[in-house]
Formats: sequence, structure tokens, C-alpha cells
Amino acid sequence: MRYKSIAGHELTPGKTIKDHIHVRGTELHVPHVLLCGEHPGPTLLISAGIHNAEYVGIQAAIELSNELDVKELRGNVIILPLANRSGFENRTMSMVYEDGKNLYRVFPGDAEGSEADRLAHTLFEVFIKNVDFYIDLHSGDGYETLVPYVYYLGDTSAEEKAKKMVTCVNTKYYVRSRCRTGGAYNLASIYGIPSVLIERGQLSLFSREEIEADKADVRNILRYAGILSGDWTEYPKQQLLEYSNDAPCTGCWYPEKKVGDFFHKGEKLGEIRDYFGRSLFTEYAPEDGVLLHQCSSLNIIEKGPMVTYGVLQNNIE
Ligand SMILES: [Zn+2]
Repeated sequence: MRYKSIAGHELTPGKTIKDHIHVRGTELHVPHVLLCGEHPGPTLLISAGIHNAEYVGIQAAIELSNELDVKELRGNVIILPLANRSGFENRTMSMVYEDGKNLYRVFPGDAEGSEADRLAHTLFEVFIKNVDFYIDLHSGDGYETLVPYVYYLGDTSAEEKAKKMVTCVNTKYYVRSRCRTGGAYNLASIYGIPSVLIERGQLSLFSREEIEADKADVRNILRYAGILSGDWTEYPKQQLLEYSNDAPCTGCWYPEKKVGDFFHKGEKLGEIRDYFGRSLFTEYAPEDGVLLHQCSSLNIIEKGPMVTYGVLQNNIE
């Protein structure tokens, strides 16, 4: 009998494979772990480190790859603990070291493009599009504070299952995204693969509590998917409509609010000043909302992230 193959490896029941895949036309190698359950079932992919300075998910993925037991799995778990390895090893702020691109934003990638394009192409073709469920682990970047929340993409054939995955995640908020371009989980969703992106952690810090919370969420989703046995827990949460405002200019940034704060329309959210302390721009809240993540470093970069907030929707699910 032949089993499903991923990255040139047949997923033979009971096997654990730890390997690197080479990205054609580059020096990049992507570490991956294939946990082939002893019992048949679906295949779930976990990726971390698409943004390489978002450490909570990376460490959670490394630990899960050693803690999940193939004897207990009904199906397969594929783990990419560090998708952007060269960024990690050169300590970039979540850009691919070789070409300075944001890997997350170039999906589905390009087999003939620069390093980030080729890496995204490989991740999508070899791993993402060949699985039944997908979890992408993120945090606030090295300069960002963030409250935990979870995304899924609306208006897809995978929406119902993706919503169930969202209920398995122990956060207060979720975003039903409308973004259909760039991004790994949303592209997978368009391909009909139930997918979520979990945001937890900030400022390139990583705490035991956050790592355990990521791992608990993944295990809960694995129970929902039937890959781990046992009951899964549903966590009620509030739906948000998300808005991201990038910085209109480069300079010094002075945020007024903390992530998780509620604000009213018209309240000041922060100000950009020049190096003489003169005001260049003031950001006011365009409507009532809750601050999800924001730039929290003194420097802010034109067209780079400034504030991302959510507007509360009526339904609690
Ligand atoms: Zn990220």
C-alpha cells in the first residue's frame, strides 16, 4: 500500500521524519517534521516562523514536534518550526534576509522570483496545499505589542470548519478576515483548506505561559480534527472587524494607548514627530474600537505597521 507523500517522504504509519527541504535556486533550507500517525486520519500542518522574530510560535512548534506521539495520532501532523530560517539566523525583523521581503506577504510566491518568492512557492506547493487543516502561528514582531487573537478567512468553502478551529483557540477575540491576497492561511482557505492564524506574544519575547497556550490551542484543534482523541473545548469569543493603518511617514512614534485598550471615535491613538520633536502626524480613532497590535518602538517607518484595531461586531460565538 502506498501512503500520501509530502516533501519526497511517504507518510508511513508510525514514522517520524525530521529533514530539511531545499528551495530551488537559493541557499535556503526549510526544517520540517513529519509525524505519521499509526492510525489513518487527516493531515494537519502547523507552520511557525514565517515571521522569524515571532518566537512564541516557533518554540511551541519545536516542542510540539517532540511531544506529539505518533502512536496516539489518527492522521498526520506536519510541522514547519521555522519557515524563514535565514531571517532567524541573521536576526532580521521578520524579513527574508537575502531579499528583504516579507515572506508572509508574497504568497503564493514565484518559482522564478527572489528568495522570499521562491520560499513561499515551495512552502505552498510542497506543504500547504497538500493538507486537510492548517494552523499558522504568529506573534507581534520585534517592535510590536499585541493582544492574543485568531483569524480565519470568511466566504470560503472551508469557512464552517475554520470557524470550529477558531472556537478551539483560547483567546478573547477573533477576526473574520476579508483579505484574500498575500498570506498563507488565507490562500489555503481559498483552496478549501480550513485554516487559522493564531496571534500570541509580542516584542520578540517568549514566555512559558504563551508557549503553553499556543500548544494547548494546537492540541485542542487536533482533537476537533479527530487527530488526537478526546473532547475538544469551545472558547466563546468576540468577533472583530479588523483595520490596519500603516504609518504615513518615517520618524519617532508616540503611541497613546496600550494594546487591548478600548477607544472611542476621535480619540488620539498616537503621534509621529521628527527628530526635533515637531509633530508630523497625529492618528485619531476613525471609530470606536479595541487596539489589537501596534508599533511600540520609538522608530516608525513609512508604509510600515502603525496601529491595527478591531471594531466589535454584535455576535459573540
Ligand atoms: Zn507574523
